[in-house]
Amino acid sequence: MISFNVPPFTGREMEYMRQAVENLHISGDGPFTKKCAEWMQGRFRVPRALLTTSGSSALDMAALLCGLRPGDEVILPSFTFSSTANAFVLAGARLVFVDIRPDTMNIDETKIEDAITEKTRVIVPVHYAGISCEMDTILEIAGRHGLKVVEDAAQGVMSTYKGKALGSLGDFGCFSFHETKNYSMGEGGALLLHGEEDILRAEILREKGTNRSQFFRGQVAKYNWVDFGDSFLPSDMNAAYLWAQLERADEVNEDRLATWNAYHAAFAPLEEAGRIQRPTVPADCVHNAHMYYIKCRDLAERTAFIRFMAEREIGCVFHYVPLHSAPAGLKFGRFHGEDTYTTAESDRLVRLPMYYGMKKEDRERVIASVLDFYDPRR
Ligand SMILES: *Cc1c(COP(=O)(O)O)cnc(C)c1O
Repeated sequence: MISFNVPPFTGREMEYMRQAVENLHISGDGPFTKKCAEWMQGRFRVPRALLTTSGSSALDMAALLCGLRPGDEVILPSFTFSSTANAFVLAGARLVFVDIRPDTMNIDETKIEDAITEKTRVIVPVHYAGISCEMDTILEIAGRHGLKVVEDAAQGVMSTYKGKALGSLGDFGCFSFHETKNYSMGEGGALLLHGEEDILRAEILREKGTNRSQFFRGQVAKYNWVDFGDSFLPSDMNAAYLWAQLERADEVNEDRLATWNAYHAAFAPLEEAGRIQRPTVPADCVHNAHMYYIKCRDLAERTAFIRFMAEREIGCVFHYVPLHSAPAGLKFGRFHGEDTYTTAESDRLVRLPMYYGMKKEDRERVIASVLDFYDPRR
């Protein structure tokens, strides 16, 4: 059986988790959390990175930090995970979905401006498959209209756009360290921040509305309840698991890229023959091999493909059901403009097995099975 995903494990996770327990610091913001945060700050060149309990909670924090009021609008793609939308619904906003580009499956930056109204406050680019949205255009539009940009970089850890880390480009960047992502701590995430005021407010929001972080730095004499908040800090045991992987982040990245590149080369003839489409990586983007997908001719072919692969014990999956057509999407938002690509393209997309440490023979078996499915003699 070749699983669709295997949670990342690089070797020292158990040792570090044991250390966290022996440190007698198993709650949040212990030594391993600090190591992970400092590593991210250095590597992704941001003043502050806060570890969170999930990618969803990083998005929740970002949405709350945008200071939205009831009736405010947020622009996002419909082709994304529910968490992208939930964060802004919980913060009281209305969702305005915009179509995607068929080449990257990312929000179509040329359709954003037309969706802006006087109620718009935030644009949420989702970097699908770890391949960047067209950020210069999005940041330029946001700047001209005075809008915040919250990057859903849940899939984009270690990817770049024009040399800059995804998650570091907008006002807020959100990472996920779920077990299905490139780097994991079971459940977890991170929020990347820039401004001093945002950093201070984020620390308070994350620490149950108290200025406990300032207290620990010796900046205030005692800590107090100063604003609304919640508990968004993960246990240091989880951070210890993540640290084992961040320490070897380049190795994980290269290993995944080897699988991605092998798939990509092997399927080029199928694309040339017009049988499938492969992912596109725009010139300014360096990706992290978060995902490898192909696009079948249509929904019927995709269904047959997944069944064919399952018979050969190879796990292939599809996603997402476009949010604007889901019950909650209908309740909380609207689609602006034409749905030219969102539904049609998501119906055709299927993801192949992709994980750290995938064996070469397994990768070759996946490739052979895909080629078999499309063999005209079959
Ligand atoms: C995984 C993911 C999330 C949520 O992250 P969790 O850590 O599972 O909460 C949000 N957005 C996108 C695009 C994701 O892929």
